[in-house]
Amino acid sequence: MTEHEYSLPRSRGFHLRRRLRRLVARCAARMSPRAAPPGQLGILTYHRIVPPVLAGDRPSWAVTPARLSQQLSALRTYGYRPLPLTEACRAHRRREPLAARAFVVTFDDGYENNYLHAVPVLQRWDTPATLFVATGYLDTCVPFPFDDWPAAQTRQAPPDYWRPLTRDQCHGLQTTGLFELGSHTHSHRNFLQRAEEFRADLACSFAVLRDEFGVESPSFSYPFGAIDPDLDGVVRHSGASCALTSFERCVASDDDPFAWGRFNVEYDDDGATLTAKLDGRYSALCNKVRRWLVFGTASRRPAAGSPSLPSTVRTSQRERAGTSCTREISARLCGLGASDDDHIR
Ligand SMILES: [Zn+2]
Repeated sequence: MTEHEYSLPRSRGFHLRRRLRRLVARCAARMSPRAAPPGQLGILTYHRIVPPVLAGDRPSWAVTPARLSQQLSALRTYGYRPLPLTEACRAHRRREPLAARAFVVTFDDGYENNYLHAVPVLQRWDTPATLFVATGYLDTCVPFPFDDWPAAQTRQAPPDYWRPLTRDQCHGLQTTGLFELGSHTHSHRNFLQRAEEFRADLACSFAVLRDEFGVESPSFSYPFGAIDPDLDGVVRHSGASCALTSFERCVASDDDPFAWGRFNVEYDDDGATLTAKLDGRYSALCNKVRRWLVFGTASRRPAAGSPSLPSTVRTSQRERAGTSCTREISARLCGLGASDDDHIR
């Protein structure tokens, strides 16, 4: 097992794309709110919940407890209603209508700070959540090998900023009645093009969830959002109830439950940007910006299926179209909406 298995290569535009997405979210928040279609669901993704640091780099993938509280409060004010993921899956399977403005909260990886800092906030706002745990790191006292915050790997930050959950804390989460546990694989590696290793790893994770926490048919989220057809096939036959990706889109009533999208929550998201994500304005604007940067116009639609094509194919399409150098660079930077090289963790 090598170190690179715990990360995916970030293109040079990765951090710029994240800044661009935050800007698009701000712009989308200024657009008129839209009525979401019946049955539409928005799923939010959090990772670290930690107090602000006074010096050094901001923790990666982090939202403060105060900001989390503001976000959940604002969503209530806007009329959004939190829903457990299992309830959303069950309603989807039975083709039952979801309540209007329903949303789901999820946490990825399994940080101890979710137990320490997120629980009181979720209890305050009576908000259920699903915690996708990388089960192989429970009870370990070292940083996750995939933690990309330097202060975590060098252990310059306090342990509650980076330490994985313990089994006792997971049981504690379950007893709150608000938390469900899901699988985020056992080892949280990059399994692209390694379906057999993925199958064994997933079976191990499901066994931990079943034997130690009584979770049958767990929900699943892809580490790094990294998915290919072979991995998709493994999950479908694993006994999972649903699978969540990192494609930033709302869930429609007829969407495939093994490819549901989610929205990563940024540290500066507020009620205005979150509602723009949950009602579809953000995804629509992302797609417009992306089309404009790639094809030169927001109104000309790309060829059918283009958004899901591999980036190399899209690049050759742009080359055939004779796009300018500036636009080519812009397109590479614009991993917006349904990008396939926009890996969250
Ligand atoms: Zn992860």
